[in-house]
Amino acid sequence: MSDSQFTCPECQSDHVVKNGKIHNGKQNFKCRECGGQFVQDPQNKIID
Ligand SMILES: [Zn+2]
Repeated sequence: MSDSQFTCPECQSDHVVKNGKIHNGKQNFKCRECGGQFVQDPQNKIID
């Protein structure tokens, strides 16, 4: 199992690159297929 492979929630492409970190230290990614940005946060799956 690899935790370094992420997929875009918009287009499900794995063609994503790291795009720095956001204010709370979460890793931000950018999709090279659709250009969308998303944050991978496996420790906070539940949103209030
Ligand atoms: Zn995408």
